Amino acid sequence: MSGDPQDDCLFCKIVAGHIPATIIRETPTTVAFRDINPQAPTHVLVIPRVHYPDAASLAAADPAVAADVLREAGEVATDEKLDSYRVIFNTGSGVGQTVFHAHAHVMGGRGMQWPPG
Ligand code: IMP
Repeated sequence: MSGDPQDDCLFCKIVAGHIPATIIRETPTTVAFRDINPQAPTHVLVIPRVHYPDAASLAAADPAVAADVLREAGEVATDEKLDSYRVIFNTGSGVGQTVFHAHAHVMGGRGMQWPPG
């Protein structure tokens, strides 16, 4: 939980440029790229450059970067001209987290149900 890059982490490899991604925004602390398997017309992932396994551990260790992720999620929505959108942090395999590097899903461009499935 040091925040250092992890050799076996897909998103650390995207941050390092070792795996290609459709990057749409970058800041000194974050990277935003299109999800490879989009579930909405806009489906972008915003990740911190530092490695923490989920959003809560990022926020506990580095709240400023956690705030950067949230701000960038809003900037993605503005860039994509979304009036309504969802920001989702899956946390734990039980709700579908598959990549254990903190990430915000920014999803919009279609209607959505509440509660989510
Ligand atoms: P999670 O299920 O909340 O952990 O979200 C992980 C997301 O990463 C999923 O929506 C995947 O489609 C997405 N994903 C996995 N590999 C890649 C990739 O190489 N590029 C972009 N998105 C990816």
